[in-house]
Amino acid sequence: MIAFDLICSNGHKFESWFKNSDSFEEKRSFGIIHCPVCNDNHVEKAFSTFAIKKYSDKKEEKKEGKIDPHQAYQALQVITEYVNKNFEDVGLDFAKEALKIHLGEAEKRNIKGVALPDEEKILKEEGVPFLKVPVLKHLDN
Ligand SMILES: [Zn+2]
Repeated sequence: MIAFDLICSNGHKFESWFKNSDSFEEKRSFGIIHCPVCNDNHVEKAFSTFAIKKYSDKKEEKKEGKIDPHQAYQALQVITEYVNKNFEDVGLDFAKEALKIHLGEAEKRNIKGVALPDEEKILKEEGVPFLKVPVLKHLDN
């Protein structure tokens, strides 16, 4: 059995149980699902936040759990450290340099820096691969 949140053409939401998804479609096409409020038989599935979430298997379900803010912060620290060690800081020239590297006018290397929204748009349009990393403020200072 499966429960669907349904909505009638008058906007009444209600829940109904079906054997499976096909059984819902069949009953709906025969017009035998009625809104308990106004008896309307033009019903659609009401997509709630749960309905949109797709789980292909149990494993994925676990992964999609809430992200622990502490873990996220630690992950960000690792990324920031890695970037600081391995990427050349070009500061405000980021977009310019990234474009040059992309066009083969500058040596291929890892760079980091800041980009304005306009510059970011240009990079995207040019197909320059880049990664946006949030700037980590040191909370312990
Ligand atoms: Zn209704």
